[in-house]
Amino acid sequence: MKAKFFKILILLMTFSIIGLIVVQLYWLNQAFRQGENEFNSRVMKAMDETVQFVNQNELNQYYKLFNETRKTMKDSVNAPQVITSQIESDSANVKYVYLTRYMMDKIVLPVSGIYDDSLNVTEMYSAERAIKLKKDSSLQHFQPIDVNLEAEFKDANYTLERFARFDAGNKPISRRIDLNKLDSLFKSKLKKWHIETPVELAVTNEDSLTPAIKTQGFIQTNQNYITPLFYHKDDKPSYYLSVYLPSKKKTIFSNISALFAVTILFTLIILGIYATSLWAMLRQRQISQLKTDFMNNMTHEFKTPLATISVATDALKSKMISGDPEKVKHYANVIKQENKRMNHQVEMVLRMSQFERNEISLEKSIVNVNDLVKQSVESIRLIVENRNGTIFENYKAERDELSADSLHLGNIILNVLENANKYSPDSPQINVETYNVNNNFVIKIADKGIGMSKAVLGKVFDKFYREETGNVHNVKGHGLGLAYVKYIVELHGGEIDVESEKGNGSTFYLKLPIK
Ligand code: ADP
Repeated sequence: MKAKFFKILILLMTFSIIGLIVVQLYWLNQAFRQGENEFNSRVMKAMDETVQFVNQNELNQYYKLFNETRKTMKDSVNAPQVITSQIESDSANVKYVYLTRYMMDKIVLPVSGIYDDSLNVTEMYSAERAIKLKKDSSLQHFQPIDVNLEAEFKDANYTLERFARFDAGNKPISRRIDLNKLDSLFKSKLKKWHIETPVELAVTNEDSLTPAIKTQGFIQTNQNYITPLFYHKDDKPSYYLSVYLPSKKKTIFSNISALFAVTILFTLIILGIYATSLWAMLRQRQISQLKTDFMNNMTHEFKTPLATISVATDALKSKMISGDPEKVKHYANVIKQENKRMNHQVEMVLRMSQFERNEISLEKSIVNVNDLVKQSVESIRLIVENRNGTIFENYKAERDELSADSLHLGNIILNVLENANKYSPDSPQINVETYNVNNNFVIKIADKGIGMSKAVLGKVFDKFYREETGNVHNVKGHGLGLAYVKYIVELHGGEIDVESEKGNGSTFYLKLPIK
């Protein structure tokens, strides 16, 4: 994949993921707002119903009083009665006749029965009715009005409501409303509208802000729901019902929490998939890069022995040499040596591909690990000493026989030793030590090389990790060595540990259990 295409792909992926998250957030916000609007309208409906109920209830008490009083009024022959009518036209075909009846009487209302009070009323009973008249198209004139006045005035709501307003308006609010009853009434109405949330309420004055009576937790905020509760004679509100819902946001949120959870879940899944595919793409790219490097290195490393073998076989074919057994032996040795080198390379390739596919299985036998370490030290000694370096050895482990795979164990010890050499810029000083701790065999390999920072330390055992900075970049490697070391140590049931400080060298501990 071309680098530019890859960059554009990542950019597009990131862009669309961010876009998707922003859109999701937008929709969630919309859903919350919609939920809030719906919630508000349900609360307002519950409030309207409460207010209606309270007013009707108050009116009913007056009805009760008046039903008796009116009876007396109707029966009293002497009560002066006036009925007036007034005709108004709405259009050429529609007319309204307004009938008003006035009754005057002096009565004393037994208000004391309910309010522990009494009321003198002088002019009290007036009622108004509007009768709509329509001209029939077939007739020239309006129909004659045939109205049963008694029936028309039967329920004098108008007057009664006016009177109730007037009368009740003179009472202190605490005598008109029982706060507990109002509270439970409102809660039952809320329940009817499927809202269950803590409620605090108050009846506020004309300014709609100052509470006249309130429940204990009531707070005046601009989030409160307010609606007129009682009116003055002139139809202006005299008291308001103010409702404060402390858990409003939580309640609305709980209504859409399922939607919210599902959205978050799917967004997280998409994010997870995005991260994994990005990681896989990057890794794939890195691996293919590494493989190319690896192939290049390999071809180079095969070229030299192949050339040497070719020269040696040519020499063997020549008569001058084939007659000389010493020379034949020498060239045969050269071929054998180069063959060994190539074999070693092939082994390494096989091992790496096995390791990459997690296909390594151990072939265990009883191994003397002290001896194995000594062998590995020997195979690197020349290289170290050629660089004016020294290897210090101290084999303290007394119990040194382990059931282990000698091939892989030898490889990993060599790997750590090679790293100690590779990452020591000049004259490597390598300290090799073995000892026993709690039924374990420990191989400690310390160098005084470039060391590692804390950030690097956390990643050295990851496959393909290489700290590619400064000098290190010049050091050849595939970033597989330590991952392989850790894998093999763990296959043996052991642990690997590393201590290091930038500039102060590194120490690796390979801890293997003795069974
Ligand atoms: P590589 O093939 O790069 O050596 P390894 O897996 O062996 O891969 O090591 C991974 C990285 O760990 C190296 O690239 C290097 O940065 C760091 N590292 C390993 N051993 C040492 C050491 N002895 N001193 C400093 N850094 C080391």
